[in-house]
Amino acid sequence: MASFSWEQRIQRVETLFQRYEFARDVLSFTREVLRFQQEVYRRIEQKLGAEVFAFQTSVRQLLSDRWGIFVWEGNERPLRGDFLDVHLPAFFPLFDAYLDLIRRVGPPTLAAVADQLRTDLTAEEARQVLQAYWRHEALPTGLAETEEESTQLQAVLAFLAKPFLQPYAEFLADRYPDKEWLDEVVAEGTPGGLCPLCQSRPQLSVLRPEAQGTKRSLLCALCGIEWRFKRICCPACGEERFWNLAYYKTQEFPHVRVEACLRCRRYLKGIDLSVDGRAVPLVDEIAALPLDLWAAEQGFQKIELNLVGG
Ligand SMILES: [Zn+2]
Ligand SMILES: [Zn+2]
Repeated sequence: MASFSWEQRIQRVETLFQRYEFARDVLSFTREVLRFQQEVYRRIEQKLGAEVFAFQTSVRQLLSDRWGIFVWEGNERPLRGDFLDVHLPAFFPLFDAYLDLIRRVGPPTLAAVADQLRTDLTAEEARQVLQAYWRHEALPTGLAETEEESTQLQAVLAFLAKPFLQPYAEFLADRYPDKEWLDEVVAEGTPGGLCPLCQSRPQLSVLRPEAQGTKRSLLCALCGIEWRFKRICCPACGEERFWNLAYYKTQEFPHVRVEACLRCRRYLKGIDLSVDGRAVPLVDEIAALPLDLWAAEQGFQKIELNLVGG
């Protein structure tokens, strides 16, 4: 279950909007996208309902075909690749409105791409893009003419697909049937730096106060769950030698740090709730954009870009 409600996230955007003048553009974009995502979540909730997972195998096909309800096998762990095939019709009708939103409030380059996709991408192609993203497969790039264009288009499509699918992934995480298993992996953590539930990369790390100092967890970029992770370890390559792990902070963001790995040159940002207990990690991470600029200047590559491309 996500640690912060949609309302808490939106409220935090308002607070940081007042605090960081330089981040107003990215925060107002974030606010619009969060509001839209909240609507998508509501829509999914209405259409798919609380019983999105069911256990009676005898009516399996009927349930999944007619109602988008999954029959749970009991031994299934992560969110499966075929879930979206059944569930997408419940919220795909909002995809055009999503592209319109990006056209209206997105940064100019992204808005231009959304504008182009709105006319060039057929509904079937758009569905294929979302399904490929959900399965962690290469995205179809039929519109690209050269290899270079194809690489760029892949990146842009992934960038656009993620925010649209986040509310869906979060909805499934909120209603995941095997709570016992989920609670365990969340508390104990798993080796490797991918989300135990949806296999996506971490968006950021979170530090929370614990008896002696802080404990660290990673926040999933797609489904939003947080799972425990080693304090001294690079989520991208698993490096644990402390001399290869560097931290960078500025006075402007005392509760945010860059966590960089000198071995693989990847980084992510950590939000320290023991320094600012009111922080909402997803939002504070976006507002601390100058730290991403610094990291890029040092030649570090982010493990997972955030909503505003930082
Ligand atoms: Zn996840
Ligand atoms: Zn590394």
